Amino acid sequence: MKGNLFVVSGPSGAGKGTICKAYVEKHPEVYLSISATTRKPRAEDADGVTYFFIDEDQFRAGIAKDAFLEHAVYCDNYYGTPKEPVMKQLEAGRDVILEIESDGAMQVRSHFPEGVFIFVCPPSIEELNRRLEGRGSETPEEIQARLEKAKSEFPRAKKYNYMLMNDDVDAAVQRLEAIIAAEKCYMPRNIEFINKEFLK
Ligand code: 5GP
Repeated sequence: MKGNLFVVSGPSGAGKGTICKAYVEKHPEVYLSISATTRKPRAEDADGVTYFFIDEDQFRAGIAKDAFLEHAVYCDNYYGTPKEPVMKQLEAGRDVILEIESDGAMQVRSHFPEGVFIFVCPPSIEELNRRLEGRGSETPEEIQARLEKAKSEFPRAKKYNYMLMNDDVDAAVQRLEAIIAAEKCYMPRNIEFINKEFLK
């Protein structure tokens, strides 16, 4: 694997989608993986852009074919990372970001311990509630389910390499830039270059 894998996770409502989108707009050299899901598209969604919208049969067929790098059920819908495009980009030396919930992040961690795992954290529980309720795209029951699910993600925070506070989107994007830039300089990721170039 030549590219670096960055997994941006954390509770729904923390703002990971907004941060990742803003990051790749500034850094188009990084590939943001497009997930498959069985959830219904929202007004802001576009098939093949925000997600690949598929039905449950198609999703189960994908699982059977081992087509997902990871997959999880989140609030009654399937979500999964298509394996092939991600592996292709990594093999080609391109850095990849996965923006996924924490069950999936932990699956990826077991296969790619060298990945960088980033937990996006809202500034407070009140703010998390406010963001989830303010989205206006879900029913009250769906909001409640997402809140419960969001709270259940915090005990896993210690399994991540970094906490990315999202109190302000621009500041959070800058923090993500700092994390990614530093990780790319981390010696274990560069030793192969040193060996090849200077110690042959
Ligand atoms: P939403 O329905 O709000 O777009 O996404 C719900 C949750 O699913 C978010 O936490 C999002 O990060 C997560 N998610 C999106 N794509 C994937 C995926 O491919 N795998 C996993 N495990 N979670 C995903």
